[in-house]
Amino acid sequence: MLLAAVLTLALLVTGASSALADAPQPKNIIYMIGDGMGHVQLEVARLVKGGPLAMDLFPVQHKAANASLDNAVTDSAAAGTAHATGYRTNNGMVAMLPDGRELTSALRIAQAAGKATGVVVTDIVYGATPGSYLATVNNRSEQNAILEQALFRTQPDVLLGGGLSVFNAIGGADRLAETPYDFVTTRDALLAWEPISGRKLLGLFASSTMSYELDRPANEPHIVEMVHAALEFLSQSDAGFFLMVEGSRIDHAGHANDLLRGIHETLAFDQAVELVLNFAEERGDTLVVVTADHETGGLTAPTKKPSPVVMDRGVSTVASEIRAALNQNPDANIVELFARYAGIDDLTSRVQAGNLDELIRSVLSDRAFTYTTTNHTAAPVPVLAFGPGAELFAEVEHIADMGRLTIELLGGSAGGDR
Ligand SMILES: [Zn+2]
Repeated sequence: MLLAAVLTLALLVTGASSALADAPQPKNIIYMIGDGMGHVQLEVARLVKGGPLAMDLFPVQHKAANASLDNAVTDSAAAGTAHATGYRTNNGMVAMLPDGRELTSALRIAQAAGKATGVVVTDIVYGATPGSYLATVNNRSEQNAILEQALFRTQPDVLLGGGLSVFNAIGGADRLAETPYDFVTTRDALLAWEPISGRKLLGLFASSTMSYELDRPANEPHIVEMVHAALEFLSQSDAGFFLMVEGSRIDHAGHANDLLRGIHETLAFDQAVELVLNFAEERGDTLVVVTADHETGGLTAPTKKPSPVVMDRGVSTVASEIRAALNQNPDANIVELFARYAGIDDLTSRVQAGNLDELIRSVLSDRAFTYTTTNHTAAPVPVLAFGPGAELFAEVEHIADMGRLTIELLGGSAGGDR
């Protein structure tokens, strides 16, 4: 913390040129946020995958606090603002301070430095997290204003995600002629898109948020495909690039207490992390930061040995398989059925008398992690980093420090007080 304070002071005195001179300067920065992704979400994903995540391979494995200015439990707007601008603000505010001061995001600092920029999310592109990088508004509910500023002011080179409804509400299709954007709305069109000099890429693949990975229709791209398209395009920039990627819907599954979908959102995000890590390892000039804004759902380990099978496939699916097997053969050994269908090999007691369906479900539920709230929690969030400057992220205490550090590594200064 002392080091960070000294660095900030030096920046104010000498300008942005020398303070981080000792740290290697990344040409590119890829900043990845798992919305609602706490350490327990990673633990579950690891169990279901049956091995380490790509996120486990990062040399810097740290954590950070995330309280907003007015609440111990942050929302995605205040946390997005901290990541994007290096400032803590009140819940609900997007790249703006309570006194009305407008903040400059890392993405806009990167633009000022001549770098290409991109935003890839599975939420609406005018959601609180992408909004913090693209716009400045008093409240996250001002979605029209966020999208207006994104498309007609900030204009990142790549903007991919959901959100056709507000795009249509602001007459987006008719107004795109005023912009440099090529516009795609399907997976096929995204995969077929070829960069043309001077053109930028806007992709909106759903009316609202994109689908959960588990429910994703064929016309929506996988997050890995969106990140791949962004990297192909942005890496053509001679001056480097800044890309923000959000695995947005880990949070939505947490609010819904939908473990199955939450796990598959985390695993899909981890696949995007793997792609980015491979990209950065090959190049050597790219800093990758992976983190979260907050944990959602208060996810908690079961008291009994967890079953990856039950968590991967869902209690309902496994319960109906066991029920169907019992229907077919009422004399089947129930312990063997639980071993075969649920991967539970340590059942010690017989199933008690009672409603059979309820008993099966309760045995299975005891083997899954459970949510303890439908809201966000104050749990610290993961801070993972790889590449030039990564070691600086091992020193952060709060996610706002991460935003500040990112801006400094881009040659800018967040300035002022936190
Ligand atoms: Zn949330």
